[in-house]
Amino acid sequence: MRENLAARFAETPDVLFSPQRERTLVPVRDFVVGGDEFITMAGPCSVETERQLLVTADHVAQAGAQVLRGGAFKPRTSPYSFHGLGLEGLKLLAKARQESGLAVVTEVMSECDVEFVAEYADILQIGSRSMENYSLLEAAARTRRPILLKRGMVATIGDLLRSAQFILCQGNPFVILCERGIRTFETSLRNTFDAAGIALLKEITHLPVIADPSHAAGCRDLVPALARIGVAAGADGLIVEVHPDPDRAWSDGEQSLDFAEFDAMMDDLSPLIALRERGWRRKHTAEIQLLEAVG
Ligand code: PEP
Ligand code: MN
Repeated sequence: MRENLAARFAETPDVLFSPQRERTLVPVRDFVVGGDEFITMAGPCSVETERQLLVTADHVAQAGAQVLRGGAFKPRTSPYSFHGLGLEGLKLLAKARQESGLAVVTEVMSECDVEFVAEYADILQIGSRSMENYSLLEAAARTRRPILLKRGMVATIGDLLRSAQFILCQGNPFVILCERGIRTFETSLRNTFDAAGIALLKEITHLPVIADPSHAAGCRDLVPALARIGVAAGADGLIVEVHPDPDRAWSDGEQSLDFAEFDAMMDDLSPLIALRERGWRRKHTAEIQLLEAVG
C-alpha cells in the first residue's frame, strides 16, 4: 500500500519512508519533534511588544506548549501593513525564551537574514510564500538549524516534498513539514485545510508533520475543530496563533485565539493526543524496547 503511494513521489527519494529511514526525530533543545511526544507551538502571529510576547509565552508554557512562535519578519500582502520588528523582535523572542524556557520558532524571509535569525531561533520557519525560494532554503539549511517548512498556498504535496529535498541535499536532515491550508475553488474560508495531505505525508515520508489550523481556517471559531482534525490525521504537533487581545493584534487577529480559547482547545485535544501517543508507541514498540535495552 505504502509502496503504491510512494511510487507517485519517486522524484524525491530522500524524503520517503524506507526500511533504512523509518522516521526522522528532530532534536530541539530538550525535546524532539516527530517522536511520541506531541509538540505544541503557540504564540502571536507577530512579535509586537515586550509585554505582549512575555505574557503570551508565560501563558502558553503553562498550558503545555513547548515552542513559542512569533514573527519578527512578516510577509504581508500589502506594502502598507506591519512588516515586523526585525532585530528588535528577535531580541524580544530571545528574552521570552530565557524567561519561559520555551524554544523559539520564527520566520526567515531573506537569504541575507539567515545567519542572524539563526542566532535567535531554535527552529527556522520558511513561510508559505517562500517555499519555492530555493536559494533561501539552501541558505537556511546550511545553518544546521531545524527547519519548519510551510506548504506553499498553491503547492502540491509533490512540490512540498521537492522543497524538503533541497534542504536534505544540503546535509541538514532536520526538516519539519507544515500543512497550513491551500487555495482551492472554495473561498468561504481563508484556505482549505488539507487533512488528507497530513495523513498522506505521515504515510509516505519519514519527516515530522505539523498542522497549522490558524492559517488554514483564517477564523478563530474554527481553529479548535481544525486542530482536532490535524491530530486525528496523524500530525506530530500543532502551530497555533495565540494573542492576549486578538482584536487588537497587529496581524492575523481574526484567526488568533485568546488565552481562554487556547486553554479550552488544549483541554479538548488532550484525549486525542493521548490516543496518538499510544498509537505511536504501538507502531514503534520494537524500537522503544531496543532503546530501553541500551539504556
Ligand atoms: C505565519 O506563520 O504567521 C505565516 C505568515 O504563515 P504562512 O507562511 O503559512 O502564511
Ligand atoms: Mn500569521
